[in-house]
Formats: sequence, C-alpha cells, structure tokens
Amino acid sequence: MTTLTFLGAAGTVTGSKHLLEVDGSRLLVDTGLFQGLKELRLRNWEPLPIPARSINWIALTHAHIDHSGYLPRLVRDGFQGPVYCTKGTADLVKIMLPDSARLQEEDAEYANRKGFSKHKPAAPLYTEEDAMAALKLVRGADYGEPVELSERVTLRFIPAGHILGSSFVAADVASKGRDPIRVLFSGDLGRYNEPILNDPSPVTEADFLLVESTYGDRLHEHTNPKERLAEIVNATAQRGGKVIIPAFAVGRTQLLVYYLRELEEEGKIPVLPVAVDSPMAASATRLYTKHKEDHDIDMQRLDEKHENSLATKNFSLVQGRAGSKALNEDKGPAIIISASGMATGGRVLHHLAQYLPDAASTVVMVGFQAAGTRGRRLQDGEREVRIHGEMIPVRAAVETIGSLSAHADRSEIMRWLSEFKRPPKQTFIVHGEPNASTALKDRIISELGWNVTIPVYKEEVELT
Ligand SMILES: [Zn+2]
Repeated sequence: MTTLTFLGAAGTVTGSKHLLEVDGSRLLVDTGLFQGLKELRLRNWEPLPIPARSINWIALTHAHIDHSGYLPRLVRDGFQGPVYCTKGTADLVKIMLPDSARLQEEDAEYANRKGFSKHKPAAPLYTEEDAMAALKLVRGADYGEPVELSERVTLRFIPAGHILGSSFVAADVASKGRDPIRVLFSGDLGRYNEPILNDPSPVTEADFLLVESTYGDRLHEHTNPKERLAEIVNATAQRGGKVIIPAFAVGRTQLLVYYLRELEEEGKIPVLPVAVDSPMAASATRLYTKHKEDHDIDMQRLDEKHENSLATKNFSLVQGRAGSKALNEDKGPAIIISASGMATGGRVLHHLAQYLPDAASTVVMVGFQAAGTRGRRLQDGEREVRIHGEMIPVRAAVETIGSLSAHADRSEIMRWLSEFKRPPKQTFIVHGEPNASTALKDRIISELGWNVTIPVYKEEVELT
C-alpha cells in the first residue's frame, strides 16, 4: 500500500513535511520548521505522529528553513537515515542549519533570562551540535540523477528556479505487474525570466501532484524591479544619502547585486560603494557563484568570460563586526544590503538605527513583510520604530519594490501546470494560507478541469 500523509504546510505556508509510505517504508519529503505566529511555532514542539527513527529516508526540495529547519530535531529524536537533496541545497544547509540552531539557542537563553518560559529551564528545539550531526547525513545528488532508495522507490530532483539548489522531487514508486506511479512534490515554485537561476523546469507527467500556493490568489506587481532600483539609487545618491536594503541572505541579496552590477555597466546609476553586510549572505553569494549547474544562460555566458556577475565595481562582502561598524563611518552615498529581510534581527538593525533618522537616506523593502515585523511597520509608514530598546525616528524615505518575490504568482503557477500533458489523478494544494489555496483550487478546476483537493494537517490519503 502506498499512502501520503500531510504533516505540515497544510493550511499554512510553513512547516512543510510530506510523508510517502510504500509498504511500511517511509520517505519524508521536506522537514520544515513552522514559523510565524506563536500558535504555529508551538507545533514545532508537538511530537510527530510517527517516531523519527521509523523514517527510512528524507528528501529536501530546497534549503529554506520552512522546508529544512526541522531536520536537526529529527536527528536528535533518532532519525539515522540518509538525507537526499541537490548539491546546491547540500551546501546551503551547511550554513543555514547551524545558523538556525544558534537562533534556537538564543531564543531559549532569552526566555530563561526573562523568565517567561513554562519550561524551566527553557531548552532549545535543537542545538548547533544537533545541526552538525544532521549535516553528516546529507547527500547531494545531481539534477536528474536517479537516486534509488529501494527496489520500489526512486527519486529525481528537477530544477524549480526558486533559490540555489531548489528542486521538485519526483518519487517513482514501482509495483509488480503494474505501471509505476509518480508522485511529484513541487516544493516552492520559482519565477520565470529572472536572472541568475534557470526557470522552473516544465514537468509533463505525474500521477499525484503536490503544488504550493503561497501566491495562489495574487499576481506580482508588474513594475520592472531594476528600473525602480535605479530610480531609488539615483534619487538617494543625489541627496548624498545611503540606500539601506534589508534582504534575505539567500536569493534576494544575490539578485539585487546582479541588478546593481548591470545598472552600473549600463551607466544607469553611478558607481557607488556596495556592501553586503551579513555573514550568511556572503557565504551564500560564494555558493551561488560556485554552483554553475543552477545558472541560466546569461549567467553561463558571464561564467565563460570569467566575469564575476555577483559583484559590482566597488564591492565588499563584509565579514566581521568591525567591518560592519566601519561602514557607518564612511561618509557619502553608498548601498548597504544586509539581513534580516524583515528587519527582525541581524546587522541591518545597526544600519537602520544609524540611517533611519537621516532624511537623505532611503530604506528599501524588497521582500514580503509579515504582519508584526519591524519591516512591516516601516512599510506602513510608522514615524518611529524601536531598535535595541531605543525609539528611532523615521526621517529616511521608505520605498518598496514589490516585484522581487522568489515565489511564482498565480499566473506563473498556472503556466507551470499548463505544461502537463495529462492531468494528474489527483492534485493536492499545499503551502498556502487558506484563501490562497482555495483561490488556486478554484482556478485549476475551472481552467484545467483537474481533480483537486486541499489536504488538512495530518490527513492521510491512499495513492492507487
Ligand atoms: Zn522557499
């Protein structure tokens, strides 16, 4: 018997965990942390309905923490099998999981100091040691390379165009005397016609399909992000201010640098000092350069010319805290890209504290800003924000470039689905808020006439 159980990202966008069971053997696709509202984060503490040690294999679609961040906990709880993913993902989780562990440890330490945890003392969900143990199990595969888990189950990773190493996972399940069935897990679907990474690969066949729906009810802004960036940089440079961009370390930072380099080469912006001030973004940028198998055709051309496409003319990847502080002593216009993307923590807070009161400077929001975050407050036009316990007046301009998302929007999801040559027997919509998932379901039914369901948390379905 072959079954699928939805252990996360059902009715929400985080905590992706999908269990495929084939005659008692267990493959868990994605090991995501629940993130965001407290009610969701508490789910990370609930035991899984199955023991971690009963899972035979894990496969990761990509390295984002809402798809990979629960792995150290599973290893701590007894999982000992191999973890398969692409080579890009294998490298990225090496920097992301230890970082996630440090955040877990800091949270626990903070809870103990403030005394607000019910557990005494508060323990982290996992430690850096657990993350290091998990990394020992990770095995990188090439795109398209068959990974034989057992006589009955074979995996393949297919480029998804979302972040470095991101993939769809195709699981082919063989059975005697019958055609094999293919279960395809979309992970997160990327964008078309973006620089650096390949487009999402067309998929033409699957018997059972899981598709994400983060933006299932929305279309991205159609403004050209590069032109907007040029306008903002030019206006700020004329005022003699700094451009501060809180950005996700993996993906958005590299895209911004790519656009800034092009704008400089095209003479559309002046050559300014550009600093990427986040240790993780610096490491991720090196990995983006290294993993040529992920590069689209324009990146390949630049690679052949040995040009560093992920650096501008006056560019620095800032390492230590001293370098970060020195940035704030430089006078004159400059561009600082720094994490975290929603200004909830990280080094960008120091730059915001310094330049928010400066009317010549501009803060640019480039990613989704969740409710309750500092980034969202700035975006909503608040005139004061609290940083490191101090109220900081907002005199800098605050701009948003809404078209820089790493997720396919409704029309891009539909474009990808329209490549299928025959409808899947069943399509499961996952990884979306209820409104987004329902909107996508209705659209797939009306435009493609497929059999679509939205599974609920812990639902089990037999695949026949
Ligand atoms: Zn993702």
